[in-house]
Amino acid sequence: MAVKYIIKAHKVVKRYHNHTALNKVSIKIPKGSIYGLLGPNGAGKTTFIRLINQISKPDKGEILFYNKPLTEEHIQKIGYLPEERGLYKKMKVGEQAMYLAQLKGMSKVEAKRNLTEWFDKFDILDWWDKKVEDLSKGMAQKIQFIVTVVHEPELLILDEPFSGFDPINTELIKQEILELKKKGTTIIFSTHNMQSVEEICDHITLINQSETIIEGPIEEVKKQFSKNTYVIHFVGNMITFTNALWTGFELLKKEEISKTEYKVTVSPNGENSINELIQNIIHGCKIKSVYESSAKMHDIFIKAVAQSNEPKNLTKGIKNE
Ligand code: ADP
Repeated sequence: MAVKYIIKAHKVVKRYHNHTALNKVSIKIPKGSIYGLLGPNGAGKTTFIRLINQISKPDKGEILFYNKPLTEEHIQKIGYLPEERGLYKKMKVGEQAMYLAQLKGMSKVEAKRNLTEWFDKFDILDWWDKKVEDLSKGMAQKIQFIVTVVHEPELLILDEPFSGFDPINTELIKQEILELKKKGTTIIFSTHNMQSVEEICDHITLINQSETIIEGPIEEVKKQFSKNTYVIHFVGNMITFTNALWTGFELLKKEEISKTEYKVTVSPNGENSINELIQNIIHGCKIKSVYESSAKMHDIFIKAVAQSNEPKNLTKGIKNE
């Protein structure tokens, strides 16, 4: 039977001195997915990535690569673009790219062939003999992307891959990521840019304070957070509309398109259904559209993190008194 998950982390614990950076984190990364690893600063994302890269080892739990415990051999199958990147400034671009590709196990011939293909694709063949110190930040980022993917890794780990890129290059890299996915590469994508998560991820995990608080296909996560929230676009009087809401519905957002046209987001309280609200407003307002709203990853992130922080804050507050 085909293996479904490229990475399976089971109850992984990682401690630094007296700080637990990961606390029983379990994550399953489907083969061929673009997997968003999300969380506030300090949540434990880089710690998790470093464990997959075998830069450090878990204190408890295990990480499997295609159902087998991680070994050094797996390092060749992984491409890692860290957030903090560096190239040797004094070396020439081509020379350095060749060196890094060979470190990943490529022969000189393979490295030259693949690198030339990538440089040609990005239309930067004339950078080959430039010194790294003469590259702009964006140019260096492109080289770093190329040296991360040149050995055709099965698993690609990208930590904030768009930082430092202008919108044109961001789009270029985004398209390359989607292209790599089409070819079967699995991609772990860590970012704070929720718009790009919406655009390219199919699964996500949200880590907060060392623990997983959400995991699953992005569409399911969005559905779970979209429950019972509707957007109503109408022409009419706002006071008439708010009167119709009465206590049965909560007005979450109001967008004034003109003095007589609005887009509002509402959520029924308790057992009330959206049908009742429509019946109430239909005589006073002209409804242009009604649809169940889809939660945005940005809002899900903020809401889920706030919810997960709540009980702990409460306990802290009680203790402090
Ligand atoms: P993220 O990548 O989500 O921002 P990290 O994984 O870098 O978070 O860090 C998680 C927590 O572990 C932070 O509180 C950080 O200070 C701590 N930490 C990370 N690496 C080390 C280390 N080498 N030594 C001590 N503490 C560390």
